[in-house]
Parts: sequence; structure tokens; C-alpha cells
Amino acid sequence: MINKRLFEHYKIDTNKNLHIQNRCGRPFDTVLIDSLGSCYACECTAWLPQSIGNIQVQPMEEILSSAKRKHLQQSIDDHSYRYCNQAQCSYLQKLGILESERQEFTIRLAIDNSCNLQCPSCRTDRIFVSRGVVLTRKKAWIDKVVEWINKQTRPIRIVIGSDGDPFASLVYRYFMTQAENHQWNHVTYDFQTNGMLVSKMYQRYQWVFDRTEVLNISVDGSTAEVYEKLRKGGSFEKLLENFQFLQNVKRKFQVHLHMVVQKVNWHQMPAVFKMLDRYGFERAYFNLIQDWGTNININEQTEFVNQLKYNEIKAELSKDIRARLHQLS
Ligand code: SF4
Ligand code: SF4
Repeated sequence: MINKRLFEHYKIDTNKNLHIQNRCGRPFDTVLIDSLGSCYACECTAWLPQSIGNIQVQPMEEILSSAKRKHLQQSIDDHSYRYCNQAQCSYLQKLGILESERQEFTIRLAIDNSCNLQCPSCRTDRIFVSRGVVLTRKKAWIDKVVEWINKQTRPIRIVIGSDGDPFASLVYRYFMTQAENHQWNHVTYDFQTNGMLVSKMYQRYQWVFDRTEVLNISVDGSTAEVYEKLRKGGSFEKLLENFQFLQNVKRKFQVHLHMVVQKVNWHQMPAVFKMLDRYGFERAYFNLIQDWGTNININEQTEFVNQLKYNEIKAELSKDIRARLHQLS
């Protein structure tokens, strides 16, 4: 039932017993669907890498009632957490703050990594599904998700944007068109976007934006020179136009800024943080650059962490509750 080699790949000891009394809710309230249609009972495929089914060949109901999902849930209920990746799961990294089952069921759509940008920290080539059999196949997966949502009465949260841009992707736009057509009252949305297409899509998908809770926008610099170097294909001017738009519009959702901190932009952290006040946004996240296999020299990119000035910036930012500093220390 369990793919041992997969767990070995992630260096997860499946014989362990963590004796955790709190019950993590993710295997009970979350499903993540990846670019191959594989479904996972956690927020991240690297945290709990066992697939519980595949939407390409199964309906959602079958995946959610699968023996594999029940088996993973059992490993939480017996307190062992033996299939969880202790080294990577953010909840297990901060023991004691495991989140119990949420009222809403979360679907994380990570089925299309199409993007209008090509950031060096994320990819080496432009990736965009614009037509053909792949687009047709992914739209069919969306149809299955939509069919399932139509039958639910429990609140549902849809999270899109961990892999590509939700507003550039034709697959995700197809989903949002379905959401507009169905006008679900029991569904809310969270997006992670590069921000280039926000004002355009806001006007197109009004129903969805009215039910959005958090709009996460990646901002890797506070000047055009740095931003456009790190967000290849992006326009700093357009980003600020979209910020201006969000400042003026009567929005019900929060806007969170996200910065991938690296060699050429760490000194701009305070300036990015100041954008919160300038545009009336709610929160800023600073994440140290990670190695995503895009041929970057991670040691060179993170050399600055030993600089006094950088540590002063970090200490200053950490005084404000609106700043979230992840993996920076
Ligand atoms: S403890 Fe972490 S890895 Fe395990 S199910 Fe919960 S979120 Fe996933
Ligand atoms: S905007 Fe986001 S998804 Fe698109 S290339 Fe950059 S990091 Fe990747």
C-alpha cells in the first residue's frame, strides 16, 4: 500500500513513532492535486509523499474514501506520524502547534505550472500550457473537481498558485470561469500570484475575488532593476500599477507580500516591507531562497546571512507583527 522507495527518497523513517498526542488535521481536511493528477492528503507532497489516488482515472469521491487515505489518517490517530516528513513539515518543525481539523475542506490545486514569468529561482525555461491534449486533460481534472464541489455543503477553500500563476494559467482560468458560472456560496479562495494580471482578472472574475480571503503576491525587489532581474519577464511598473489598483478598489481580502530573499535583494527587505503601509496591505513574508534545482549556487546566494547589516535588518523587521521571517535564521 505504501511506496517504500518514495519514503526512502525523502529520507522518511516509516518505522518511527513520534508519540504526538495532538491530532494534525491535514490528512482529514486537505487534498493536494499535483501536475500529474496525483492526490495527496497533506499541504505539501514532500511532507507526506504517499499519493492517495489520481484524478486522471478516479473521481474525487473514490480518492477521498480510498484505503490509502484511511491508512495515512490512521498513522496520525495512532500518534506515530510515521509517514510524515519530520525534517520538512513546518508544523512538525514547531512541535505543539499542530493544527487540528478545520471546519472547511481545502483543495490545493497544483495541477498546472504555467506562468507568464520565468524567475531564475523557480525555472530555467518558460513553461506555459496553451493548447493541445495536455490542456484538454487538465481541464477534465478541473471538471471532476467542479463536479465534486457542486455536491458539497461543507465550506471549501480552494488554494491556487503554488506551482504557476493562477491568473496566467489557462487551466486555472478555466476553473475560475466555472466558479463564476456556478456562483458557489460555500467556496472561498486563496491565490499566490506574481501580480502582473491582478487588475485584469479582478474585473473578469468578480465573484471569485469577492470570495477571496488572501491574495499573496510575490515581490522580490523594491526597485525595477532588482525586481526585473529576479522576476524575469515581469514589469515593476505594472506591479506597482496593480498595487495602486488594489489600494483603490474596495477589497474584502487581505493582501500579503512575499519576498524570496537572496544575494541581490536582501538589502531591499525594509523597502519591500514599507510597501505594506504605502498600499494598505496586511502582511509581508520573507523566505530565504531555496534550491529548487534551477542551477543556482545556493551557498553564494546565501552568503549574506553572516553580514551584520543583514542581521540588523532581520532584528528590526521581527519587531513588527506584520512581518513573517521564514527560514531566515
Ligand atoms: S504533521 Fe505535517 S506532514 Fe504530517 S500530515 Fe500534518 S502537515 Fe502533513
Ligand atoms: S512568478 Fe512564481 S511561478 Fe512564475 S516563474 Fe516566478 S516564481 Fe515561478
